[in-house]
Order: sequence, then C-alpha cells, then structure tokens
Amino acid sequence: MKTNFSLAQLADPKFSGSNDILRKCVHCGFCTATCPTYTELGDERDSPRGRIYMIQQMLESGEPAPAETVTHIDRCLSCLSCMTTCPSGVDYMHLVDHARQYVDETYERPFADRALRSVLGLILPRPGLFRLALLGALLARPFRSLFFGRIRAMLDMAPGNLPGPSALDEIPVHAPKGTKARKRVILMTGCAQKVLSPDINDATIRLLTRHGVEVVIPEEAGCCGALPLHMGQEEPALAFARKNVLAWHKEKEAGDLDAILINTSGCGTTVKDYGHLFEQDPQMADKAAAVAGLAKDISEFLQDLELEIVERQENLRVAYHSACSLQHGQRVINEPKSLLARAGFEVLPIPEAYICCGSAGTYNLLQPELSARLRSRKAQNIASTSPDLVAAGNIGCIAQIGSEMDLPVVHTVQLLDWATGGPKPEALQA
Ligand code: SF4
Ligand code: SF4
Repeated sequence: MKTNFSLAQLADPKFSGSNDILRKCVHCGFCTATCPTYTELGDERDSPRGRIYMIQQMLESGEPAPAETVTHIDRCLSCLSCMTTCPSGVDYMHLVDHARQYVDETYERPFADRALRSVLGLILPRPGLFRLALLGALLARPFRSLFFGRIRAMLDMAPGNLPGPSALDEIPVHAPKGTKARKRVILMTGCAQKVLSPDINDATIRLLTRHGVEVVIPEEAGCCGALPLHMGQEEPALAFARKNVLAWHKEKEAGDLDAILINTSGCGTTVKDYGHLFEQDPQMADKAAAVAGLAKDISEFLQDLELEIVERQENLRVAYHSACSLQHGQRVINEPKSLLARAGFEVLPIPEAYICCGSAGTYNLLQPELSARLRSRKAQNIASTSPDLVAAGNIGCIAQIGSEMDLPVVHTVQLLDWATGGPKPEALQA
C-alpha cells in the first residue's frame, strides 16, 4: 500500500520500520478469515486489514491517537494468526507493537483504564506482588457476584486455591552423578507462571537433568517484558528485557551454553525478538542478538534429545492446544505433538486450532467479554474431540481453558516428565 510519512517521521527508525511493513500490505484481505476478532465481530475495523489501515492513518497524522482507533487496537489479541495467513509477509507483530506504544504516548485513557493497566504492569511481572494479589482475589472470590466487568473477570480467572511454593530450590539442577552432562542450558523461570503453576518449572528441570542436561537459572533474570510490552509500556518492558539479556549473556560468557529454554511460549516469542527490541541500542544490540539466537521453546530442545520413555500412557487421549505464541509467533507446530505421541499419548487435533483461546497475556483481564466468547469457542472445539485431558505450552492458555472446562489442563512438559519417570501431574491425580 502507498504511504505518506514525512521525511522527519522517516528519520525515526520506528516510523521507517512501520513504513516498510505497511508498504508490504496489498489489502488482499486473506488475513481476515483467520482473525479471531473479525470472526467474532464481523467488523472490518476489528480485522488485521482494517487495523493496518487505521494504524497507518494514526501514525501518519502525527496527532494523538483517535479513540476509535484505540478501541480497535485494544481489541487485537496480538495472536499473530494474521501473520501465518498473510501471503505478503506483512510483519503485523512489530507494527501493532509500535501502534500500542504510540497510543500509550499520545492517548489519554479514562482514569479507571489507566489505573488498571498501571496496576497490572506493576503486579504481574513481580512474583511476590502477584502472589499477594492472588491471595486477595482468593479472599474476595466468595463475593464475586457483587462485582462486574474487569474486576469480576479477574476474580473468575484467579485459581480456586493458592498454589504452593516451587520445589525449585530442592530439585538438583545438575545432571545426576556419574552421567556427564551432555548439554548445558539456561532455563527462564519467568514471573506469573512460577506463581500460578510452580510444577511446570519443577517438571522441566526434572525432565532435563534426568536426560543429562545441566540447568542454570541466573538469579538476576525475571519477567521477559512481554506483559508490559503488549500494553504499550515500552520503558518497563525494555528494563525487564535488559536485565535478562545481561544476566544470560554473562552466563553465556562463563561457559559453553547450548540454549536458553523457555517453557511459556508467550515469553518465548518476546525473548526470540530481543535482537529486534535492542537493535538501535549500541550497548545492547550484540548481546541481545546473541541471547535471542540461543532462545528455544522447550519442545524444540526436547525434540533433539533422546527421551527415555519408561511409562507409556497409551490409554490417555490428549487434546493438544497450540498456543498462538507457539504456532503463529514462533512457528513451533509439530514438536509438542510429536513428543507427546512418542511418549505414547493419543494426540487429538482440535478443530479451529488456529483460533486464539482469548487469554493473550492481559487480554482476558482488559477485554473480558470478547475473551470469554473466544474461551467458550475454544472449549466447545476441545470438547468435540472427547479428550481425557488438555495439554498446552503456555500458562496463560492453561489458566484460560482450565477456568472454562472440567478437564485437567496441564503443560506438555508435565506429561513428558511423567512418561520419563517423574511424578504424575497433580491435576491428573483426582
Ligand atoms: S493478508 Fe497480508 S497483505 Fe493481505 S490484507 Fe492481510 S496483512 Fe495485508
Ligand atoms: S493479531 Fe490476531 S486479533 Fe490481531 S489482527 Fe492479527 S489475527 Fe486479528
């Protein structure tokens, strides 16, 4: 498409990057067919093509973001399904990231919206604060019928009981004595996941060390920055990302490092993009690119490891939910399914697998109605396969689907840990 940015705007790398992206879009509309919000609402302004057009108008104008444009950008899940479908290779991810930052810088949101976004940006990336917030939600849960809108959505999404602390400190991160560690990896232990489901990291470490992989967990690393980034909060997102890059790069320099593993695919998409995030920062660019080059989803790494299956669960039907960040963001599609099948599980394909479950970072808290519609749609599609359980590679999806369905919903690594000699996942014990 034709663009009309001024020369002054094009001198800014962000605008010139968006200009390049916009010029690739030929307005063919193929992407509308797989966009969850367009499928649900049928409004062109809630389709990728409509949003691309509105973003162009907003950025070119140089004026504060119009309220109408903000509404339709806010409704975008950043699921990236449109990128998988687009035949022209339009990089919608970086375009919408820029648009969200522009909105954050130029648009005055209503007070309640602003306050909620600030609180979420403060709490979610910090495990200590998040745990306290969950405790508060647990106490308020019996009164949730008194609330509505976003507060009600938050109470509905909070787990029915507070998960115990991780056993991380007690799990050896070194390969068992006598086995020479074949590989050495960093594990990103994340932020919200380790509070909501600490067993995912525990299972990952057990699984890796059992197969001769030494696991390193640098203390300085934490949230990947995706949660603030997707709310347009660039500075805090960069601050979190910078800490990780420096901590992991230091570890990389200290010895051989085969990979940086991420078991929350929403975070993985962001970590793999660290090179882009810091490309204009001369102090950080090389380190960030090196770190991003080592980042792998756990399933990509496990695919190349000879897993020793000791307990095949051939009678269990697993509906595998492919998180958008994994299938569209990272194009990791077959690895988790093939690992589960190798471990003996019967893997069931879910209809409309390309459609988001509505979790999408903070989306289920900021857009509760649309998120609930997508959650129900996903639950119906899963139920149509008559599974015994659901597996996914992203904590957001696990919590979202688990809040709608009476089936156990677990992380893929928990099933692989079980099949290779680890404990049966707690969710399956009932
Ligand atoms: S499919 Fe790609 S080129 Fe076509 S309208 Fe969508 S983003 Fe633009
Ligand atoms: S990221 Fe998802 S919701 Fe947003 S425009 Fe693309 S397909 Fe639609």
